[in-house]
Amino acid sequence: MTRRLLILGGTGEARRLAERTLAQFGSRLVVITSLAGRTAEPVPVAGEVRYGGFGGAAGLAAYLRGNAIDLLVDATHPFADQISRNAAEASAVTGIPRLAVVRPPWQRQPGDRWIEVPDAPAAAAAVGPLGRRIWLTLGTTDIEAFTSLTEHWFLVRRVDPPPAPLPLCQAEILLARGPFVLEDERRILAEQRIDAVVSRASGGATTVANIDAARDAGIPVVLIARPPPPPEPLVPTVEAALGWLRSRLDA
Ligand code: NAP
Repeated sequence: MTRRLLILGGTGEARRLAERTLAQFGSRLVVITSLAGRTAEPVPVAGEVRYGGFGGAAGLAAYLRGNAIDLLVDATHPFADQISRNAAEASAVTGIPRLAVVRPPWQRQPGDRWIEVPDAPAAAAAVGPLGRRIWLTLGTTDIEAFTSLTEHWFLVRRVDPPPAPLPLCQAEILLARGPFVLEDERRILAEQRIDAVVSRASGGATTVANIDAARDAGIPVVLIARPPPPPEPLVPTVEAALGWLRSRLDA
């Protein structure tokens, strides 16, 4: 019997999971990836793809039932905590098994000048004395916390042009899509004379070059802590998620 898997996506892990699941279990599983629809041209994903929100946990539960989903894998970004809460709740309500893929956080290395803070307002308070030229690798909601820093200049990297002007007095937008490479990150830090970087403790490979380049250059990184992880079961890798799928399919 063919089963149906829904992957909550928007990450490299979700794309790899869709591809590898189809390669390993394609004869036994239909794979559907759900994207929030935030980027204009998302990276192609293997299998079926659907776009847009479900309408909260209740909407997701209705989608799972209405589309005869048998298994749910939440492979969203560690900072996408609302959809992860919704996935846990929808799984509890429907009884459809859910797994979350939560990538390990980066580990502090010798030479790192990390200033770890709980949230964006604390990050804005921390960058004040670190210098005038700040690289923000944050989403728009977090950037609003920096509005009052009118004496600072900000470099902001985005996949798509922001739909509205950024709420910052002095800012330059850099359009680029990860994964980013060390040489480019080093060059940008030097050319833009960056004094400090503000990043989220995302972990993973896509943005780690930014953290590595800051370490090499001796530049401080204000690192915003992750929200709490979703409830168990959790795995750290795509490989482990494939193991979970295998055990579910064989059960
Ligand atoms: P969020 O705050 O957790 O989610 C907000 C709402 O967006 C959810 O309640 C849901 O709407 C919808 N949504 C989120 N992910 C979805 C998905 N995969 N499929 C369908 N609907 C989804 O999430 P976010 O931080 O805005 O991130 C949105 C997406 O971008 C996620 O899929 C995430 O993996 C990806 N992403 C996020 C970040 C980040 O830094 N946050 C970085 C890289 C990629 P409804 O309640 O209507 O269902």
